[in-house]
Amino acid sequence: MNDSMRRAAALLLVILGAAALWRAGSGSPASASANDAMVATIAAARERAAANDPRLKPASRYEEGGWIYIHLEGDPGAMGYQHGYLLATEIEDGFAAVSAGMMHSTERNWEFFRKAAREMLWPKIDAEYQQELRGIVEGLRARTGSKLDVDDIVAFNAFEELPEYYVPWLNKQQKTGNAPNLKSPGNCSAFVATGSWTKDGQIVMAHNTWTNYRNGERWRIVFDIAPKNGYRILMDGFPGVIASDDDFGINSNGLMVTETTITQFEGWDPNGKAEFVRARKALQYAGSIDEYTKIMLDGNNGGYANDWLLGDRKTGEIAQLELGLKAYKLWRTKDGVLAGSNWARDPKVLKEDAPQFDPGNKESSPNARRARWEELLTETKGKIDVAVAEKMLGDHSDTAQKKEEANERTLCGHVDGSPRGVQEWDWQPYYPGGAVQGKATDATMAKEMRIVARMGHPCGADFLAKPFLAAHPEQAWQAPYLRDMKSGPWTEFRSGQAPKE
Ligand SMILES: [Zn+2]
Repeated sequence: MNDSMRRAAALLLVILGAAALWRAGSGSPASASANDAMVATIAAARERAAANDPRLKPASRYEEGGWIYIHLEGDPGAMGYQHGYLLATEIEDGFAAVSAGMMHSTERNWEFFRKAAREMLWPKIDAEYQQELRGIVEGLRARTGSKLDVDDIVAFNAFEELPEYYVPWLNKQQKTGNAPNLKSPGNCSAFVATGSWTKDGQIVMAHNTWTNYRNGERWRIVFDIAPKNGYRILMDGFPGVIASDDDFGINSNGLMVTETTITQFEGWDPNGKAEFVRARKALQYAGSIDEYTKIMLDGNNGGYANDWLLGDRKTGEIAQLELGLKAYKLWRTKDGVLAGSNWARDPKVLKEDAPQFDPGNKESSPNARRARWEELLTETKGKIDVAVAEKMLGDHSDTAQKKEEANERTLCGHVDGSPRGVQEWDWQPYYPGGAVQGKATDATMAKEMRIVARMGHPCGADFLAKPFLAAHPEQAWQAPYLRDMKSGPWTEFRSGQAPKE
């Protein structure tokens, strides 16, 4: 017998034993408790069998600074199993929060997303990632007895692209009446700098993630991935999702990757390959800016369209890949800085992929932050390092009002404090979203596969759910999922790290 057959046989014996116990008890007044005992016995047996699974041997998990650090290693199926098993509780919790948000914003039911995952996305997913996604389901089920299947997990992995890219495109195609006002999101503030701009002349890269606090508070995983094929990866991420997705990551062949999304992007190609697959593949297999660009363009579906900020620590070169669907543009330099705060700048990309976006409106969140990046990066030219980057990620200067005030226009976003919201993303006044965590690294750290990360607002402020919900009853639908988002300390993580005792 092979391992999995042995495990199945062992599990079957326990189930038969428990069933016998249940039958013995079923005629008596104690049948309810006997039934409970059977359920508990089966669950315990399942967990024991799963914990002894040899696929888990190289994997590990520990928590620090508000983050959960996960080491995954091996072939795709094994890494998926480890991911599903080690983060089972967080995946179930994250799935509930994310799927509720997807259904709420789009007014579509979950079966709609399962169908999109199964029929549109799955056939174009590379075999190795299909195996990894199946592995996640297997590990998750082994640990918790979860009912989630691969369609659920694929739809969930596409949570940044199905609701706000595919659905608005579909609504337009089908001329859906009373369709909700869906806008592609404006996620993140970031920069990458090199040459005379940085303290040591080498690359510095930093990023804070913007999203709603419901999802953002759960965006607390550090993935250390040692795949059988491709390069070693260290990235932040979301439980159950195979790409970083917000995106911040480095690989062992010198590539440094982050992005900010393109505001008011429109478009989708149903025949393309899911963005979460291309982004993961590019971080795993690209050893140069050219290779990264090639992988992202291959099967581009328009989902989660980003301005990718890239660095190659081997050459000191940085690049910006503005990846529209109809158009794209690549800028690159060995002496410069490239910043992002959700604005496209190539005239062709703007015209063809984000026609509604107004680059001239200085009051909007993307443009006000763009102006702040220019001020800050110019002021710190020649001095930029990770410590400076950490401070910039927590910056609260509003260039439109010319004052210090944490709001939707500051690099560290606090839209819950804004009476304006962000109309370009359909974020209403006092929308509970903004900067939810930050990360930074430089070429020296990337060579040693190290990053620093801070959970919560990078300025250190806490978000408290209860007073927010009391003040904003219009967000009551989020109450089951919206939790406090407390800031942790800046914390260093590295590949192959063992828990600190
Ligand atoms: Zn802040």
